[in-house]
Amino acid sequence: MDNDAPPLTLLKSHFGYETFRPLQAEIIDNVLARADSLALLPTGGGKSLCYQLPALVFGGTTLVVSPLIALMKDQVDALNANGIPAGFINSSLSSSEVGSVQGQVHRGHIKLLYVAPERLALPWFRRFLHSLELSLIAIDEAHCISEWGHEFRPDYRNLRQLREEFPSTPVIALTATATERVREDIIAQLGLKRGRVFQSSFNRSNLSYLVRPKGNSWEELVSLLERYRNRPAIVYCFSRQETEELAAGLNVRGLLARPYHAGLDSETRRQTQEDFVRDRMSVIVATIAFGMGIDKPDIRLVVHYSLPKSLEGYYQETGRAGRDGSPSECVLFFTYADKVRQDYFINQIEDAAEQRNAQQKLARMVEFAQLPTCRRRFMMEYFGERWAEENCGGCDVCLESREEFDATEIAGKILSAVVRTGERFGANHVIQVLTGSREKRVLEMGHDRLSVYGIAKDYGRPQLREVIRYLQARGLLMQSQGEYPTLAVAPKGWEFLRQRQSLSLPKPTDADDTRGFRPTRAGPASAARDYDEGLFEELRALRRRLADVQNVPPFVVFNDVSLRHMAKTFPRTMEEFSRIIGVGEVKLEQYGPEFLQVIGSYAQYRNLPNPKDVASVRQRPEEEKSDREREMQVRRRRTT
Ligand code: ADP
Ligand code: MG
Ligand code: ZN
Repeated sequence: MDNDAPPLTLLKSHFGYETFRPLQAEIIDNVLARADSLALLPTGGGKSLCYQLPALVFGGTTLVVSPLIALMKDQVDALNANGIPAGFINSSLSSSEVGSVQGQVHRGHIKLLYVAPERLALPWFRRFLHSLELSLIAIDEAHCISEWGHEFRPDYRNLRQLREEFPSTPVIALTATATERVREDIIAQLGLKRGRVFQSSFNRSNLSYLVRPKGNSWEELVSLLERYRNRPAIVYCFSRQETEELAAGLNVRGLLARPYHAGLDSETRRQTQEDFVRDRMSVIVATIAFGMGIDKPDIRLVVHYSLPKSLEGYYQETGRAGRDGSPSECVLFFTYADKVRQDYFINQIEDAAEQRNAQQKLARMVEFAQLPTCRRRFMMEYFGERWAEENCGGCDVCLESREEFDATEIAGKILSAVVRTGERFGANHVIQVLTGSREKRVLEMGHDRLSVYGIAKDYGRPQLREVIRYLQARGLLMQSQGEYPTLAVAPKGWEFLRQRQSLSLPKPTDADDTRGFRPTRAGPASAARDYDEGLFEELRALRRRLADVQNVPPFVVFNDVSLRHMAKTFPRTMEEFSRIIGVGEVKLEQYGPEFLQVIGSYAQYRNLPNPKDVASVRQRPEEEKSDREREMQVRRRRTT
């Protein structure tokens, strides 16, 4: 093992990557200095590398505690494919297999040992650990230790004792859950008080967020999935029955889809999951029960066919897309009727505080779905992050960037109506007054006698609703929280009323349902594809063949980023192949010749010139650019 090589060298030689993702280098330095770390990085942020690379440097064994037995084998296979000796001990092994793994650990033939937390309670296993030189303890999915988290695992409490028994072994805890409470719980439970906390932005810059009105959505769903044909996609539904019906309907339309929900027997679920991970079929139609146990890096599309209960859930479910950093799309179909459907269940919650909490979360989710402004910004701010970008370039609102109009007059009318009705009513009522409605409540309150009654008759109600949302987003109006939110004029709104500054706002659409569906840069329909698709498909087929022979998931061979890099630069020699993203020393030897052969004959068959004249082999594809670079790019695009 090249123990003394600098981390950047190990990154290329063992993982095939040229640069670290944000915070990876800092975290790795801290671990190598034998200090404790808590790493809070989003899904796909590259947390595993933060302990896998140090494990190569340290002399002894790195123990990895991970909650999902189903994932251990894939993770270990992926490490072995890079020539990193790893193994696991869990309940899927026979006792003689366990003995053999133990032997390999003792002989130093296994550097990373994966175990589930329950194992730590077994006396013989603790004795085994004491017989080792334990150089690092990595605790993956560390939020499982906290009762405040959404996946509490009582067995994670064993980790505290482990920590006490190995006081001088550094610990790294990793999670994609960043709530204050959970974070503090992890620190307290694991005794990480002197450790360093690393937290990166939770923005997933390669994901784009789109909301579509749920009207004729079945046809839209079909055409969306057709656009993503043979690309891994998840469709989240409301109920078990709905997953069954949608999956059946999609199959009729020639799309290989299968349902997944907690009501299916475990063997069916396991099989479906495996077929999906191994690219034998591409669309999973699931309730939210699906996702926990899968680490598939190349999910390109996540559809919410019905409204999630909270933004936390939405962020987590959409977060399963694009772990490999490649552009991926998240589409939410929204109708207010789905909110009502959720209300029904919320009303059955007995605990009053819990019920209120659920109502508030749902209200924010609805707000997100109806947002006239950047969805990414809303989500980031919801999770307590500041977001300065004007245009995120990756949500439907920003991508559509609508025409503006002079809104001075209508804004004045709306604000006046809010004031005249005493700042005690919600948007609905204010709109009724503005449009001169004969609604009972309007008449009862005597609001038909106000000067603002009927002064905005020339606007449609949906348009007024949209203008109100913009006024909220611009800080002129504010809305109270709770079940019956009311509108009030914000300080900025008063200033506007006093000074009558001119105001321009994006033009409201005619109705909620008129926005045409436009493919974004994220979808495969994007024009910005800069690689050869035909070759990409052939490389995917080769990847699957090799993976099947070795009985591993295709991403263990190479992920999409690597294949796309090949399909862009057409490497012809081992030297050129070694420069492909994700090609380390072991994969170069093991896979180089076969991939080069496919690339060579593809180029020959198509009569392609030697690509070195066409594209620089060193050029990195879009998705490998750092967030910083991408940010600069968006800025540049905006200023030109
Ligand atoms: P997390 O556990 O944070 O969700 P993973 O550790 O599973 O993320 O990594 C997600 C993907 O990113 C994997 O496919 C991994 O190989 C890839 N990856 C990690 N670090 C880098 C890097 N520095 N450069 C390129 N790809 C990386
Ligand atoms: Mg992970
Ligand atoms: Zn946006």
